[in-house]
Amino acid sequence: MFKQRKHQLEETKFRGRCSECYQEMVLQGGRKHAQLVTRQIRTKCLGCNIFFCMPCFFNTHYYSDFFLRLC
Ligand SMILES: [Zn+2]
Ligand SMILES: [Zn+2]
Repeated sequence: MFKQRKHQLEETKFRGRCSECYQEMVLQGGRKHAQLVTRQIRTKCLGCNIFFCMPCFFNTHYYSDFFLRLC
């Protein structure tokens, strides 16, 4: 069972790559390519503890059943 956690984007002190964008780039051109082209961002979802850029956060949390399953 998933515990209900709060999913919200939070600005962090650290820079990271959006995991969704990164995966997408890996699929397109491999890991080296992904590391070169995925821009670094500072926003992270508190609930997932994963870096997300704004568009990917909304895609994964509101426009798919991913979010519904967690609730
Ligand atoms: Zn992204
Ligand atoms: Zn989340």
